[in-house]
Amino acid sequence: MDNPVEEIKKRIDIVDFIGGYITLKKTGRNFRANCPFHNEKSPSFIVSPERQIWHCFGSCGEGGDIIKFLMKWENITFVEALRELAKKAGVTLKNVTLDDKDSRKKERFYEMNLMAADFFQYILNKSKYGEKASEYLKNRGIKSGISQKFRLGYSPVSWDSLLNFLKKKKYTPEEMFENGLVVKSASGRYYDRFRGRLMFPIIDAREHVLGFSGRILEGKDNEAKYVNTPETPIYHKRETLYGINLAKDSIKKEKNAYLVEGEFDMITPYAHGFSNFVAIKGSALTSDQLLLLKRFTPKLTLIFDSDEAGGEAVRRGIEEAEKLDMELAVVRPDFAKDPDEAIQKDEVAFKKALNNPQPIYDFLIDSAMKKYSVSDPYGKKKISDEVIPFIERIGNPIVKSHYSKKVAALLGVTETSVEALMARIRRKKKQTEDYRSSYKKEEVVGREIVLEKYLLSFIFQSENPYKPAKTVFAAINPGDLSVPADAKIAQILMDHEKDMALNFDLDKFASVIPTSLRPVFDEIYLFASAPTGIEDDNIQKLAYEVKRFSLKRQIKEILSSEDQSAEKNKKLLEITSALKEVEKKLISL
Ligand SMILES: [Zn+2]
Repeated sequence: MDNPVEEIKKRIDIVDFIGGYITLKKTGRNFRANCPFHNEKSPSFIVSPERQIWHCFGSCGEGGDIIKFLMKWENITFVEALRELAKKAGVTLKNVTLDDKDSRKKERFYEMNLMAADFFQYILNKSKYGEKASEYLKNRGIKSGISQKFRLGYSPVSWDSLLNFLKKKKYTPEEMFENGLVVKSASGRYYDRFRGRLMFPIIDAREHVLGFSGRILEGKDNEAKYVNTPETPIYHKRETLYGINLAKDSIKKEKNAYLVEGEFDMITPYAHGFSNFVAIKGSALTSDQLLLLKRFTPKLTLIFDSDEAGGEAVRRGIEEAEKLDMELAVVRPDFAKDPDEAIQKDEVAFKKALNNPQPIYDFLIDSAMKKYSVSDPYGKKKISDEVIPFIERIGNPIVKSHYSKKVAALLGVTETSVEALMARIRRKKKQTEDYRSSYKKEEVVGREIVLEKYLLSFIFQSENPYKPAKTVFAAINPGDLSVPADAKIAQILMDHEKDMALNFDLDKFASVIPTSLRPVFDEIYLFASAPTGIEDDNIQKLAYEVKRFSLKRQIKEILSSEDQSAEKNKKLLEITSALKEVEKKLISL
């Protein structure tokens, strides 16, 4: 076995592999799905069994092989993904030099955090400096087993104890700084970020310690209640869910996750056997968190108190969840301020509350009804202003109609007026969207580029590529393509007509393409499988359209050049008459 990476790719089929994570639908020679890495409704994620690659033609634009897919899916490094795939394929990775700087750095940072977590844990459980914090946990009902499970710790009141500890472990202060464990003073001195705090390691689904949340033990007015790891190469707040490492199996099994806000609101329920809770830091529920949760469950239940409903953060979370087709519900144990307190007070009542979830839209309607009076017209307006924008966004028409009927009945108005209001919201939204897209189109991908990529893609996806290529390159030359890489690939195709026309082999062709052009080729190959906006399938006509773009471009270039010679005028005449011919062809086709 010369190359283990190639061997792994040979043994694991990309369609089987990715199909184990998301549902792939066959479309022509390729497979298609909604991209798992960004929010979308029409599928622009394409997988090719022949090339063993994938690419997203939607807004994230990601692509690659099985290794890249696993890296993105699990949010892991190249080395980790390779190890996992090697195991799956039964390939030994010995003698492979894994020179991936980015991965090495991330792994080093994970290890650094793990050591820091061990250090804090030691201080909490084994040293006299941690006695007060231990006492505090005991008073909150956190037993030692649970504390161990969550790797809770304590950062001593000191400027440099972690700094010195990690120095001994051969980490530099610069690395600790980049990893968020130490802070740099104006004079350039490094010191511990976490001092005198109860430490909650933030751990991902794969047991990596990404960062920390440090909480003060008792209220000191001059100090922040929480100090958190800032954004680092491995910690991204908008992607993290506290407790996911311990809760994920249970979430999968129950097909439901309870979302809470603070660490203790996750830990206390967990200690009492409620094992499918996760906490979000701050109240904003992000699309990254939702995408992560969607892998485990189609349904989420929010636990928060009524003041938060209708807040901007919750609002956006509901919108994102709707886009992802996730079902949202709310429970409100109204006898306590949060789940931690609710369980301490009355576990039975808490359980009962969990068993009575309210669909999110009923909850929103209820809380608006409580806030404003239905008996006066302005109250009615306020209720509808708060609730109807949510209902307008519901994707499923049956659910949507159910709620517009409900709102109409509650407000004592006709359904028509609710619908009129929704239509107005839609119009407004469309206006801003139109504005945005007209603004975007000009600077992103014009029709010219879409056309040429589509044509090349059509050619390469054909059983015998030289058949459509003949039609296309009767109308245009490779040089007519506006993107230099596209033109080069077209040129290589035509250069190999002699030896490949009768027996075209995609892999052989890919191998004659220079390495630097390989990613462009992969993307082109998959392009026609994604929604391109091109409806006409008359290849000849599309090719002439490309020709027209090319000629117009040439005319523009000549006109803007300084050259005043007769040559120039002659050339201009030639191109103009060629353009006329092309226009005629386009009409006749
Ligand atoms: Zn995508």
